[in-house]
Amino acid sequence: MPEQSGKVQTVLGLIEPNQLGRTMTHEHLTMTFECSHVSPAPGDEGLAAAPIEMKHLHWLQQNPYSHHENLLLNQEIEAVKEELLCYRKAGGGSIVENTTTGINRNLPVLRQLAKETGVHIIAGAGYYVDVTHSDETRKMTVEKLTDIIVNEVLHGADGTDIRCGVIGEIGTSWPITESEKKVLRATAHAQTQLGCPVIIHPGRNKAAPGEAIRILQEAGGDISKTVMSHLDRSIYDPRELLEFAKMGSYLEYDLFGTEVVNYQFNLDVDMLSDSQRVQTLAFLIREGYEDRILIAHDIHTKHRLTKYGGHGFSHILKNIVPKMLSRGITQNQVDKILIENPKQWLTFK
Ligand SMILES: [Zn+2]
Repeated sequence: MPEQSGKVQTVLGLIEPNQLGRTMTHEHLTMTFECSHVSPAPGDEGLAAAPIEMKHLHWLQQNPYSHHENLLLNQEIEAVKEELLCYRKAGGGSIVENTTTGINRNLPVLRQLAKETGVHIIAGAGYYVDVTHSDETRKMTVEKLTDIIVNEVLHGADGTDIRCGVIGEIGTSWPITESEKKVLRATAHAQTQLGCPVIIHPGRNKAAPGEAIRILQEAGGDISKTVMSHLDRSIYDPRELLEFAKMGSYLEYDLFGTEVVNYQFNLDVDMLSDSQRVQTLAFLIREGYEDRILIAHDIHTKHRLTKYGGHGFSHILKNIVPKMLSRGITQNQVDKILIENPKQWLTFK
């Protein structure tokens, strides 16, 4: 049995599950997102190249992926540190940092931020979406990929001794590519060896979450210890949502703070507002899924930091929790979503 059994693994070492406190289960503190750059609309080229200024903020909020500088969250370590100190003050305890290979994971920075702020930070093992896979990754067998992921959890990743405490976010596109399928199978095999938490980024299609879970299941993964991210841009129909929920994964609403009219990555999507997200949580609770819900902001660009007029890492604690309570969700259920469910998920078997 690995030494991680019964514990949570942070970038500073193992902790008792009760030490976590309120936990955001899907955030990024340093990463780059150039892989997802979207060309600006005709006529917007000037805005896309201009420095970030107050008068451009609304454009930036609606077109975050067309502004190159905005995709470089790794340039904002000081601002992120300030945010984490505010997050602690607001009652936050822990953050799962989902940056994986392909979008510039930086474990020494995560360790430094954890030391300087007192926030428990849990890092992610494995690989992001196919467009970020190297030729070397694409050629690897499932066994080789499994060995690498296991090593990132047991011994440390990226040539450091800093260990990952979850596998993911594991990136998948739609349709899921061959290379992504291998990574999913490797994820399931590593999870079988380690008894660790897993988190998946689905492709932008309503069938994507279910398909990713099926591949994990067939490879022996523990779905009850797996999180499906980004449901707020994936499944809208309540009946389809309940069908997916029956598969048994955690259901994560992790784009709190994101309110856009035209979702740049999929114009067919009507992105939920925060109010609709809270309504969806209340619906899932009524349907009996309060033990399965997790929430976060998935901050991955500069414009969502308070430094750039964004909502920051404390938005859920400061604004969403009061809204949940005023919409019939009890304090006990809020605590489940923010404390108990993350704890259950993050504790190694
Ligand atoms: Zn993410």
